Amino acid sequence: MVGARRIWIERDYESCSGCRRCEIACSLYHEGRVWPEASRVRVFMLIPGVEIPHLCFQCEDYPCVNACPSGALSADAETGAVRVDASRCTSCGVCITACPGRVPHLHPRKDHIVICDLCDGDPRCVEACRMGRWNALRAVPRVEGFSYRLYAKTPEILTSAVARRLFGEEIAREVEG
Ligand code: SF4
Ligand code: SF4
Repeated sequence: MVGARRIWIERDYESCSGCRRCEIACSLYHEGRVWPEASRVRVFMLIPGVEIPHLCFQCEDYPCVNACPSGALSADAETGAVRVDASRCTSCGVCITACPGRVPHLHPRKDHIVICDLCDGDPRCVEACRMGRWNALRAVPRVEGFSYRLYAKTPEILTSAVARRLFGEEIAREVEG
């Protein structure tokens, strides 16, 4: 665990094995059972060999929070995570559209959005990934004044960027369609 509570989860996509320990740890912590569909981190494998753990990028200007018409989203002053007030969420999906990474998603059984809340500063996905010795997810101190929004991309864009590095231009273009 990082000492400071204002943390950011750094991702090293090329180190992700696709084991999905992160999804299991997240759903166990938030839902009390193994339930990958309800996990706040989701691992996308859009092409074989490229695994993208996808979770909130904690944009410094929080487009999702600003777009929510119901006031269901807020930025936690201590951790910087996005908080979801389930009782106010109407599942309208405006936050999904506003998010440059299309990160928020609907809970599989309940009528509200789920977004990574950093587990109050001790993210269980990071711990699970470290225990698997993959270290694809790492908790680092959040740097004020830095634009984390620049990292907020869809799984499709992230996949094509990693595929370009791993397999070359031709494969990346196929991914992009
Ligand atoms: S725990 Fe780590 S290596 Fe395993 S799927 Fe998640 S991010 Fe990838
Ligand atoms: S990545 Fe998406 S969900 Fe996270 S703060 Fe940015 S807009 Fe909100």
